[in-house]
Amino acid sequence: MTKDPVCGMKLDEKKSLKTKYKDRVYYFCSSNCESTFKENPEKFINKT
Ligand SMILES: [Zn+2]
Repeated sequence: MTKDPVCGMKLDEKKSLKTKYKDRVYYFCSSNCESTFKENPEKFINKT
C-alpha cells in the first residue's frame, strides 16, 4: 500500500496512476490529483 501525496488516500500501487519525480515514484487516486501534484510537486513532497 502507498499513499496519494495530494489527498492522502491509501492506494494500491498496481491500480493507481503513477508519476516519477526526482527518482521517486508517486501514486495518485485520479488524474486530478496527479495534475495537482505536477503543478507544485515540492509542496506535496515536503508534506510526506
Ligand atoms: Zn487523490
